[in-house]
Amino acid sequence: MLRRPIDPALHPEVPGPGRPAPPGYEFAGFRRFELVLRQLGGIASRRELLAATDGDETSFWFALHYGYLDRVRTGWYAAATVPPDARAAWAAGGPLACVSALVHHGVLDPADHRIDGTLHIALGRGGHRFVTDRPVVAHWGDEDRASGTRIAVSLETALRQARWCASAHQ
Ligand SMILES: [Zn+2]
Repeated sequence: MLRRPIDPALHPEVPGPGRPAPPGYEFAGFRRFELVLRQLGGIASRRELLAATDGDETSFWFALHYGYLDRVRTGWYAAATVPPDARAAWAAGGPLACVSALVHHGVLDPADHRIDGTLHIALGRGGHRFVTDRPVVAHWGDEDRASGTRIAVSLETALRQARWCASAHQ
């Protein structure tokens, strides 16, 4: 059982009172981790997933083994709804920041000349920059990193970062 009930407004696809399961729908089982991930904002740790599913290690292992869990990096998992850039940013260590977050927030056009393949990410002071196949510019600071979600820093933070980011003005 989920500790936190699924919010039907957010997840109309989940069966419940007055919402019969459509044909072929499978709620129980490994797929429930996808729903839990979405409830947790899209990106969650193994510990959080287990806490939200009553510590069901066996289901967790099977979900991982059979491809129902997308491992971003060691101990971290993403819902299928997480945008590829946000997934790549978390793989590198943190949420989208600076111009990358502005693109995510819809403020900056991805076709803007300042946007190349480089990901700008937010890292806390004790954070770790993981090596990935994308070039990364790290923006350090606990407050900035915590300003938004695990997907992206807040719009306000992203605007401030982009104003001062050297690589965003080349
Ligand atoms: Zn930047």
